Amino acid sequence: MDFEFTKEQRDIAKAAREFAEKEFTDRAEEFDRDETFDESIFKKAADLGFVGIFLDEEYGGPGFGMMEQCILHEEFAAVDLGIGVAVTSAAFGAEAIQMFGTEEQKRKYLPLVPTGEAIMGSAFTEPDAGSDLAAVSTSAVRDGDEWVLNGSKMFITNGTRADLLVCLVVTDPDNPKRHNRHSMVIVETDRPGFEANKLHGKLGIRASDTAEVALSDVRIPYSNLLGQEGSGFSVATSCFNLNRIGVAAQALGLMRACLAESLKYVKKRSVFGAPLSTYQATQMKLADMYTSIRAARSMVYEAAWRIDQGKTDHALVAATKAFCGQNAVRCADMALQLQGGYGYFADSKVSRIYRDAKITEIYEGTTEIEKMIVAKSVLA
Ligand SMILES: Cc1cc2nc3c(=O)[nH]c(=O)nc-3n(C[C@H](O)[C@H](O)[C@H](O)COP(=O)(O)OP(=O)(O)OC[C@H]3O[C@@H](n4cnc5c(N)ncnc54)[C@H](O)[C@@H]3O)c2cc1C
Repeated sequence: MDFEFTKEQRDIAKAAREFAEKEFTDRAEEFDRDETFDESIFKKAADLGFVGIFLDEEYGGPGFGMMEQCILHEEFAAVDLGIGVAVTSAAFGAEAIQMFGTEEQKRKYLPLVPTGEAIMGSAFTEPDAGSDLAAVSTSAVRDGDEWVLNGSKMFITNGTRADLLVCLVVTDPDNPKRHNRHSMVIVETDRPGFEANKLHGKLGIRASDTAEVALSDVRIPYSNLLGQEGSGFSVATSCFNLNRIGVAAQALGLMRACLAESLKYVKKRSVFGAPLSTYQATQMKLADMYTSIRAARSMVYEAAWRIDQGKTDHALVAATKAFCGQNAVRCADMALQLQGGYGYFADSKVSRIYRDAKITEIYEGTTEIEKMIVAKSVLA
């Protein structure tokens, strides 16, 4: 067993950290306040090779594994999760095309992702179907050599930025098995009948675009089917295994930021005539954060390593996502508490982390859903 990163992985971490510190630090507060993002940061990230790092060389990427993706998520989130998501999520959905696409689909779409020419997204959730994905009702009806799409999608990351969305749709509504009713399709967002509206007022990750999407008689070629007809649910599940570990790594990055901000603050703040760092109540919080970070790191990189070895452990993935999300929220709470009233104000970094952290318990499967997966596994 080797618990060390390779030299290449350490180099990736260093490059990602330096990029984030240089490009994210001074803009994070502005993007958070205004719910905006500067696409020039994304372009720079693409130029430096930070977008779609899991894409194979033949499709323009370096072909890195889950370990390296987690390193990137962790380092970006340690500086600012909202901007980190705005950068990394541009390849969201490309993993589905790489895993399940035809050679023609891969050659057509994937090379546009690492260069930043095309921004992607994955549209599964609907107003009445979140945790229960089999309740997705957006329909795709075959008409000759086309699909005609009707329905709406909710909370779609990059909804108004994306050039391409991988969409979960119903193609066989009468199938008695509800998990076999769906298919995955690739939707180009410039098609007539496609409409996306940015959702405002998110609690956190406000640099990241979240939108609702309406599909009204959107026609796409039949060949935009991704994978087999009826396999949409299992395509989505395969993507979850990868993206859930990415979110857990984001949570790990946030925990690191909590500890770093806390250390800075408690050493300089004096209460009752002594630095805050000298009190046991403070030290317990620092020790708890450190412990969460070490446990989270072990879980994230073991789960990622297993994926890279082709030995995906579904229960470990779900447990890791749940543990990391909950502990990011807990660490953010402790970090804010340590800063008292100063932490409570919007311009403090810990107040942003506090708001950002919650999303790691919601997207890509809520903590409750992850625990249901773990429980099912342990009971079996
Ligand atoms: C900022 C943001 C970005 C997102 N990006 C995307 C995206 O790009 N693409 C996409 O498809 N989706 C995206 N989502 C959607 C996200 O994945 C869903 O919000 C999430 O899966 C939960 O679904 P829901 O919101 O409908 O909640 P619900 O499924 O309605 O759940 C509500 C609550 O009930 C709990 N619950 C559900 N079922 C059970 C049960 N059986 N037992 C006990 N408790 C249960 C849940 O854990 C949760 O606490 C995004 C969401 C947000 C907020």
